[in-house]
Order: sequence, then C-alpha cells, then structure tokens
Amino acid sequence: MKHGNISVFVPHNGCPHQCSFCDQRSITGVRYQPSEKDVDEAVEKALGSAKNYDFEIAFFGGSFTAIDRSYMERLLRAAYKYVENNTVRGIRLSTRPDAIDSDVLETLKKYGVTSIELGAQSMSDEVLEANRRGHTAGDVKNASVLIKSFGFSLGLQMMTGLYGSDFEKDVFTAKEIIKLKPDTVRIYPTVTIENTRLAQLYRSGEYKPCGLNESVNLCALLLKMFLENNIEVIRLGLHYSEELERQMLFNNYHPAFRELCESKIMLDEFLRCVDTGGIKKGSTAEVFVNPRSVSKVVGQNRENIKKINELGFDVRIRQDKSKAPYEIGVLGDVNAEK
Ligand code: SF4
Repeated sequence: MKHGNISVFVPHNGCPHQCSFCDQRSITGVRYQPSEKDVDEAVEKALGSAKNYDFEIAFFGGSFTAIDRSYMERLLRAAYKYVENNTVRGIRLSTRPDAIDSDVLETLKKYGVTSIELGAQSMSDEVLEANRRGHTAGDVKNASVLIKSFGFSLGLQMMTGLYGSDFEKDVFTAKEIIKLKPDTVRIYPTVTIENTRLAQLYRSGEYKPCGLNESVNLCALLLKMFLENNIEVIRLGLHYSEELERQMLFNNYHPAFRELCESKIMLDEFLRCVDTGGIKKGSTAEVFVNPRSVSKVVGQNRENIKKINELGFDVRIRQDKSKAPYEIGVLGDVNAEK
C-alpha cells in the first residue's frame, strides 16, 4: 500500500513574525482559512480518486500550533473522526519550534496526531536572528526533545542559503539536526521572492543568493550526511508553483532539484571508485548500479556521462540489483581485459 498525504493548508493569518523569506502580505488576511467542511471535502476527494493508499491528514502551513487554539481543535476534531473509524492512519502537521509545549502536545496526542514537523531552518542563532525567525536553535532542541518524549514522529525542516548563512553554517545545521535524531528531514534551498525582506536585501546588494550549482553541491553533501545517519530526507527542494515562478527574483530554482543532487552524489562516488581503484584515464569502465539508480548515474541531459567523458573515461552502465540506491561498483579497463 502506498502512503499518501491528504493536505490541508492552514495559513497563519496575522502572524506576528517577519521571517526574511516569507511574504507576509500574501499570507496575512488574504489566504483562505480552511474549515471543518474543507477537511471533510479533502478526505472525500482523496478517497474517491486514489485506491490502495495509506493516508494521513496533513495540516501544512508551518504554524499549526500557533494559530487560535479553539480553531486548531476544531480542525483536529474534524480530522480525528477519520482516524477513529480507520479511514486514515493518522494526522501530521508542521509548526514553529517556539509553538510547542507539553500542553499543546497533550492536545495533539488526544486527537491522534502521529507526526510533527518543525521549521528549524537553521541551527545558527546568528542566522536565525538575521532572518528574523523569532526563535533560537535552543527552541528547536527543546521542542525536538519534548516531541520525541511524547512518542510523536519528529520531522525537521532546514533552509540552505539564508541571509547570513554560508556553506559551513548550513553543514553545521545539518550536523546539529542529526544529533537530534529526527525521523525525517526536509531541505529547502532559499528562494528569494517579492515582498520579502530578502528581496530588499537582494536589491540593496546585502544578500547574495546561492546559485543553483553551489546549492546542488551543498545539498548533495547534506543529503549524503542524512542518509549515512539513516535519516530519511522526504523533501529536497521546493514544490513548483506558478506563483513561485512569478514571484522569484533570482533564478536558482530547479523543479528536479533532488535529482540534480542525487546525480552529483553518484558522480562523486564514481570518481572516488576510479581513484581508489587506480583506474587510468582512457579506460572504459563498467559501472554497476541498482536499476533504480541508472538515471542518477547518467544525470539530467546525460550531464554526468559528459563530465566523465571529459575527464577521459568511457563508461558502460550495468544494472545490479544487489547494489544499494547510492552504491556504485566500478570495474576498470574493460577493453584491456578482453
Ligand atoms: S514563515 Fe515566518 S513570517 Fe511567515 S507565517 Fe511562518 S512564522 Fe510567520
């Protein structure tokens, strides 16, 4: 059975914060506040269109436990009836680290919530302050420990390339997140959109957004770090939307961002194997990979193959089901052996 989210977007209208990357004007008092009826409709729609799915109702928007408490409970009650009658497996939500305490966690437990994702964004207080997040890295740590102590699945979200951050600080954030042992992670490279503080800082030259290649190199490393620590990265890169495309000031967005990072991991792994195996330039190497990883080795528009060729190697890709998703086996000079 496949897993599916029945998403209900709950905006934080009237949010008192001013995060540098967030367009307050587009969220304050403008976006639709869902009602209990919207929860019912979302569930009916999902059940009608998808069979054999193991569903969770997902309250996304980033500040679920910071909204009005009675409204939050009304939405939870509307969702919980589907947990009680076994229509859905559970409820998940995303929120801010400083909107978590024992009281709210007890309420969430009562209504069948199973997973909580926190928008950590950075574990550097300096970066959090520069981006006006209104919470500290300590809040992320405290909230994470509390969430785990209540038995919820913990998800942490981080952003890369924020104002005031750099390669080292983003790697530091990933290391700190790994220490908190979340069940899942989402990584979002920062996109500069109109009507934000980042937009002003970008226009004044104070903020230099991370370019796409730079971002791929960094996020490939972060992905590898999380994988090595058995933490599932459930999202890497923002979802495409027409609004995002319209509002974006600096084009460092790619709709298949994860694929680019995975291809980078595979290219690095190939080069490591070539190096450790003492495979000489001019050789034709046989590359063994899991069938599901062939496109990652080849890369988008055959980018990896082109780079490998430019480096003086020819490759023959062989499918090998015994290989793990990011594992590569390389056999040197195939032609010479024959
Ligand atoms: S991203 Fe920041 S400013 Fe935007 S709604 Fe969330 S907390 Fe408020």
